[in-house]
Amino acid sequence: MATPRVVVLGSSFAGLTTARFLRARLGDRVEIVVVDRNATLTFVPNIQMEVLADRDPLESMLLETPRIHAKDGNTFLQAEVLAVDPEARRVEVVPSDRPGGAVEAIGYDYLVVALGNRLAYDRIEGFGEHGDTVSSGYYGNRLRRRLAEYRGGPVAIGSARFHQGTDQKPDWLPVGLAACEGPPLELGLAMAHWLEEHRLGDAHKVTLFTPAHVIAEDAGEPIVEQFLAMAKEKGFGYLNDTVDVARLTAEGVEFESGASLEAEIKIVLPDWVPHAFLVDLPISDERGFVVTDRSMRNPRHPEVFAVGDAAALTVPKLGGLGHQQAEIVARELARELGVEPDDGTPVEYRPEILCFGDIGGHQGFYIHSDLWYGGRTAVFKMGYAPYAMKLAFKEMYFRTGGKPPAFGVPATHLLMDHLPG
Ligand SMILES: Cc1cc2nc3c(=O)[nH]c(=O)nc-3n(C[C@H](O)[C@H](O)[C@H](O)COP(=O)(O)OP(=O)(O)OC[C@H]3O[C@@H](n4cnc5c(N)ncnc54)[C@H](O)[C@@H]3O)c2cc1C
Repeated sequence: MATPRVVVLGSSFAGLTTARFLRARLGDRVEIVVVDRNATLTFVPNIQMEVLADRDPLESMLLETPRIHAKDGNTFLQAEVLAVDPEARRVEVVPSDRPGGAVEAIGYDYLVVALGNRLAYDRIEGFGEHGDTVSSGYYGNRLRRRLAEYRGGPVAIGSARFHQGTDQKPDWLPVGLAACEGPPLELGLAMAHWLEEHRLGDAHKVTLFTPAHVIAEDAGEPIVEQFLAMAKEKGFGYLNDTVDVARLTAEGVEFESGASLEAEIKIVLPDWVPHAFLVDLPISDERGFVVTDRSMRNPRHPEVFAVGDAAALTVPKLGGLGHQQAEIVARELARELGVEPDDGTPVEYRPEILCFGDIGGHQGFYIHSDLWYGGRTAVFKMGYAPYAMKLAFKEMYFRTGGKPPAFGVPATHLLMDHLPG
């Protein structure tokens, strides 16, 4: 039998880790082809730390991925994915390292969609001129320039409305109105610290806003209550039920609810929108997120898997969830191809929120919770340890080339859940 070809689309948190776990479990039993338009992974979660320390994230937050794939014996194609054809089992790509390349088709036996989403800043009126964010090196550096010119006015930080797909959504998965609200929480706290450090004010200048009834609802009610009590005590402003961001202007933020905030700096996390070529495919929901069961397989095309932000089950959009899914896909394929015994035990995605936030002053917060999904775990801690863990995770990620050791997550829970905060 010919060696099956696994094509992994995307080489960021979800795709890189899936490719690495696949190689580790399957050895030379599969051919692995990885496609990404970029030859580097941007370590998005730590960009804000660099920005607020006035360092260029492009110098420290990029991991070169081709050499990692070469070492694993994977074929890395720096190419733009243009189309996926699940019926014909092939994808269309075009080289992305230089304009003018010709389109080609790549066939697959198994496909892993790990292409993330478009962070749709282009759907927020006025963002180009007035908005800021920390989701890329480009925008991180733009915020650095904005902070250098900051005149001491109000700061607004929050999310635009997220549009989750609901077609084939399982009952256990709630509908989130914001894609990822850890970043606004940590940016808010860290920004207040930055203001104090620069003798420009404190939390009273910062307002957090959310399209939902409560911010970071996916962390679970008791954690959110604790956070909001602490934020109120520190003096943060808070605006909920904004519905969506209507527009950004020089003066501030206007919301679909009719409310508005005056702000000199407007930091917004946008809608996470699926790539256009995934919309209207038999593997996607009505928005373009790839539908899977808990083993991350598409029910109509079981040879197609989805991991990370591109998967419909990934809500909120957290890299940690993609990591768990990557392990599941590798185990599924190892069983299917007879490399590991199939003892009939289902390997199922059981999401839990695991989040480390930077809050300035070398401190951080740690959230570990599955309450939103009907579980009973709810841990929220603040202090020096979560900050150290956030830094350590990035170091470990870079050193291991996106394949943190298996003890990483259990050790994190042991250290963070059970030791005093
Ligand atoms: C500010 C911020 C802070 C965050 N902090 C945290 C945190 O602390 N913890 C956490 O768990 N999560 C955090 N997240 C979420 C986390 O960044 C995402 O969940 C994670 O990046 C998703 O990984 P992914 O591989 O699925 O998608 P992505 O990281 O979006 O990667 C998609 C990959 O596909 C490639 N690609 C896309 N389209 C194409 C195409 N057409 N052709 C070829 N290649 C393509 C891209 O180049 C990219 O490499 C944060 C997000 C933001 C914005």
